[in-house]
Amino acid sequence: MRILLVHASHITQGGSLVKGKKAWIHGITLPLLAAVTPKEAEVHLCNDSVHSLPIDEEWDLVGISIMGISLFRAIRIAQLFRSKGCYIVMGGKILNQLHHLAAPHTDAIVLGEAEDVWPRIIRDAQNKKLQPVYGDPHHLTDIGSLPVPRYDLVDRSRHGIFFPIESSRGCPHHCDFCVASPWSQHNHRVRPIAHVIRDIKALKKLNIRHMAFMDDNLTADKDYAFELFKAMKPLQIHWISQLGTEVINDSRLMSAAADAGCSGVSIGFESILQENLDSVNKGFNKVDDYKDGLDYLHHLGIVVAPLIVLGFDHDSPGAFKKLIAFLDTIHIAFPLLYILTPAPGSTLYKRLESENRIIQNDLNYYNLMHAVFKPALMSPSSLEKEFWWTYQKLYSIPRILKRTVHQSGSLTKRVITFFINMTIRSHVFHQRLPGSY
Ligand code: SF4
Repeated sequence: MRILLVHASHITQGGSLVKGKKAWIHGITLPLLAAVTPKEAEVHLCNDSVHSLPIDEEWDLVGISIMGISLFRAIRIAQLFRSKGCYIVMGGKILNQLHHLAAPHTDAIVLGEAEDVWPRIIRDAQNKKLQPVYGDPHHLTDIGSLPVPRYDLVDRSRHGIFFPIESSRGCPHHCDFCVASPWSQHNHRVRPIAHVIRDIKALKKLNIRHMAFMDDNLTADKDYAFELFKAMKPLQIHWISQLGTEVINDSRLMSAAADAGCSGVSIGFESILQENLDSVNKGFNKVDDYKDGLDYLHHLGIVVAPLIVLGFDHDSPGAFKKLIAFLDTIHIAFPLLYILTPAPGSTLYKRLESENRIIQNDLNYYNLMHAVFKPALMSPSSLEKEFWWTYQKLYSIPRILKRTVHQSGSLTKRVITFFINMTIRSHVFHQRLPGSY
């Protein structure tokens, strides 16, 4: 049996397909699904953002993995391959809400996490007995028994140097805009540390020393994270991750992370106004603690990319000038900005819908750079204008040079920081979000 696993790209609001030459990081879903596929099947991975679809080859089954806005591209891919007579299976968080859109174009859809049901899907396809739905929206994989992902199938020529790795899934918090945490029912599940180390060693056997943790909240369980970092230290790897603000002032944990090879983190600051954070149930982020935490991470030589969201209910146009002034005082490597986007199914979406503030239902606009709702203190078009104005100010050449000079750590890190800044600048001045390529 020949199986093609596709990670769907997405279509812009102008109707063109988002495709580039190289993605920064490969996701972990496809290598994991490949690892739980019965051995007798032949599996290929395709990242639709960088690969051409192998439409002229013979496939028995095509599995399509989607994220929110990629649903319509996934449906197009399903139509293309279905016309060739192969089975189509689709999975992804958005299907919990919108499975009725995908169902007519598929032979089966997967609700919830897929790894446990995937071998049964393959068997049923072999026996021509595929069911229309597998799993349920609340199904969580037993991550304690996952095998090593099929890293050998990843096309290294089309992806950056960081390979995906996973130590946990889920997050105990309830931020209103988040879909990752409800998907895991606000549970934080950890894998056995020995399994994470096993996966890292498998990557090292492939001469890969740069890794990216794909966890929703790597340090939600601080004691587990501390033990994991201790176990990773002898392996001499370099890794990046997302990190919660709650731990950036925890010197024991952060120094263990640095010792274990942490070279860069993105941190969901979201806003520099505490009232914004409180309004979306993320009041555990303490704006007053940001600077000390950042100083400590810089002291450890960890490069920081703060994630900032514009468009919260307390954001007025003047707030963005204050944001620029704040970011000028803390020497972060490269700030990443997004427009607040209420993902369907999130608490935020339900609230804005009940307040009649959702103004756009076309999912292609839910790409973090469009105002799809009415902001409280400005018009949607002002929010978009202020967003690009702020982003372009932050990526002026003088600010890039200043950020580069102020980076702690080696000269190499500064050079990398400079080039990443210039890449982001090029995206931002073309009004594109820094994305996967
Ligand atoms: S901390 Fe992050 S992962 Fe957790 S609920 Fe909030 S946004 Fe989601």
